[in-house]
Amino acid sequence: MINIRKLQPVLLKTGGRALVVVLGGAISAVGLAAVWLKAPADDLGKLFLYLITSGAVSATLIILWIAYSQRLVSLRAQITVAYLSGAVITIVNILVTGRLMFLSAHDQNLLMLLLLFSGGIAIFFGLFLSEQLNRQVRQLTQGATEIARGKLETRVLPGGSYELAQLAQAFNQMAVQLETAFATQREMEQARKELVVAISHDLRTPLASLRLMTEAITDGVADEKQTALFLERMHGEVQYMTGLIEDLFELSQLDSGALKLTPERASLTDLISDTLESLKSQAGSKKQTLHGQIEGEIPEFSFDPRKIQRVLNNLLGNAIRYTPEKGIINLTARQQNGFVSVIISDNGEGISAADLEQIFEPFYRGERSRGRESGGAGLGLAIARGLVEAHGGHINAQSQEGKGSTFTFELPIK
Ligand code: ADP
Repeated sequence: MINIRKLQPVLLKTGGRALVVVLGGAISAVGLAAVWLKAPADDLGKLFLYLITSGAVSATLIILWIAYSQRLVSLRAQITVAYLSGAVITIVNILVTGRLMFLSAHDQNLLMLLLLFSGGIAIFFGLFLSEQLNRQVRQLTQGATEIARGKLETRVLPGGSYELAQLAQAFNQMAVQLETAFATQREMEQARKELVVAISHDLRTPLASLRLMTEAITDGVADEKQTALFLERMHGEVQYMTGLIEDLFELSQLDSGALKLTPERASLTDLISDTLESLKSQAGSKKQTLHGQIEGEIPEFSFDPRKIQRVLNNLLGNAIRYTPEKGIINLTARQQNGFVSVIISDNGEGISAADLEQIFEPFYRGERSRGRESGGAGLGLAIARGLVEAHGGHINAQSQEGKGSTFTFELPIK
């Protein structure tokens, strides 16, 4: 059944246009006949009536075609019927005109032959055009089906008319975006899995050693001296796990954007000298030289001192940890172009180019510090980056293996 109610606006619009075209065409033709053929007024009236009638019949046929062509399912059938109706309307119009003009039977038959020939050619073109359109539409349909099956690398060849080529291009763009989004989602899923593995590994090792030590104490296997040693180690393990969980909490807050900074006007110079002072004994135990200098004046500016102290602690702590005995660790701070730069360099073991790309990723530990004895959980730099970026700043690292590393972070002076 044809849904006339749904088609009503289209039919009305086409009907209105047809009326304008038929009237306009008839008036122009009569005007031309008057000026060009100098036809008498009586003939002009008849011509007008005839043109209006034949135009109205043609327009009705077109409107009927629009209504009925909705029932034709294929594009090919719709286009062929459109050409066919065009040819039929032309033939009927010309034959009727011929009859009115009292053409001889011979002339009429000849005219009919010519018309059938042109009609056939028109229909052939219709079929050819519909075949071209069909091919492109089929290609798009196949592409969409492949994508729906999960073959996101599918692309279609842009071709055919301008609009269809544009559609194919939009289709390909959509496919590229889908592929990228899917790859990102897969990467995130992989990162999440790795994170869970890393967290469980980092908690399982100290928990296992805690269990062994508590068992040794409760079973009475450990003597008094060993018990004291175990208790000290247990304290260390608990401290390690507390630190790890705090780091994880901080990282998750940074990731989710839930971290609230508490900025205040403070002196970075004072914060640096306090941090250096607090790390002196740690560096001293490795006979390292810990040196700090402020170039020029750094005015007080707004930042969260606790968080920036955390950044300084993480970077200086790493420098101490990854620099051998008697090494030199240098901190320089200066103000330039609306930013304060803090540069921390050491002459320690350095970082390989492959590691350098990833050290700011959570749980990433350099090749040499994979064993727990020589390194932390691999969260220090991820947290430092998160905190610096939360201040609107940035952080980077440069290093040469065997020569040392330089970490630089910059904070905007607001
Ligand atoms: P970790 O807890 O392992 O120190 P970080 O996130 O602080 O974790 O650092 C990640 C990795 O970067 C470390 O495992 C180490 O390999 C490398 N690294 C960081 N700072 C330095 C440094 N100053 N010298 C050499 N390697 C460093």
